[in-house]
Amino acid sequence: MTEAQDRIVAGVELGGTKSIVLIGRGRDILVSERLPTTTPAVTLAALRQRLAEWHEQYKPEALGIGSFGPIALDKSDADYGHMLATPKPGWAGADVAGALAEGFGERVAIHTDVTGAALAEGQWGAARGLSDHVYVTVGTGVGMGIIVNGQPVSGRMHPEAGHVRVRRMAGDDFAGACPFHGDCLEGLVAGPGIAARVGRPAQELAADDPAWTFVADALAESFAGLFLTLACGRIVIGGGVGVGQPQLLDMVRAGVVEKLSGYLPFINTAEVANRIVHAQLGDQAGPLGTLALARTVLD
Ligand code: ADP
Ligand code: ZN
Repeated sequence: MTEAQDRIVAGVELGGTKSIVLIGRGRDILVSERLPTTTPAVTLAALRQRLAEWHEQYKPEALGIGSFGPIALDKSDADYGHMLATPKPGWAGADVAGALAEGFGERVAIHTDVTGAALAEGQWGAARGLSDHVYVTVGTGVGMGIIVNGQPVSGRMHPEAGHVRVRRMAGDDFAGACPFHGDCLEGLVAGPGIAARVGRPAQELAADDPAWTFVADALAESFAGLFLTLACGRIVIGGGVGVGQPQLLDMVRAGVVEKLSGYLPFINTAEVANRIVHAQLGDQAGPLGTLALARTVLD
């Protein structure tokens, strides 16, 4: 049996505005193409067409699909692999996995793009060698990919841990910007939440603006909860806000140590810089995530 890293697989990253279809071996992308995401009928057919064209030449053994969500992920459900109630016009109910699976049989893995990124950071990036870690993207929203025992967590669907409410910092009465929950984590720390709090885009705030204290505190509450719940070895943070404000990292680390008060033996001042880190794969995380997803269904 060839090592999984040497085997050729296919990937599709389905994004809100653009999609990428690719063939890869290990972390090498052998061929790729980027297409606009329009309607499901047009976009999925175009992606499928590209996969069919490349099949003969590359003979990929599995397909990984990393998609925007929400997506049904319970294999016993009739709508497995379908898009759920996404606000993206026309996409609710679309059979994403079914439309792309031809030629791959059972060897199709579908999950969120964020979960794909989590797997890719585990194989080639900031969580290499770990079996339990969480990738958190803080950008337009907050997405979390949770890896336990080397496998993505999927129940009835993918976890939506970005929408968990966190205890608010004393003195913070901002209502939050999540359209569903107001001051859930995403409503407080994603770009639109920060912009709503301060009245201008997050990237225009100075590094020492007091608003970052609230953002870091909410992230620290969330991360302390993740460490307590999962006992994971590392949290990897990505996204425009997550890596665009380098000062946040140490603020969040200090907050997590303080909030856990020595309760977890693996979280302390000496260890925390190794427990909470920046992502390493940047904009490669999405495409590489599809290859990592495909590898989960190779035997
Ligand atoms: P997406 O989440 O849509 O995939 P990004 O991760 O780039 O994309 O996140 C975009 C969000 O991040 C926007 O809300 C933007 O205001 C915010 N953002 C981008 N760069 C920075 C930065 N340097 N500092 C703070 N916020 C940023
Ligand atoms: Zn929410």
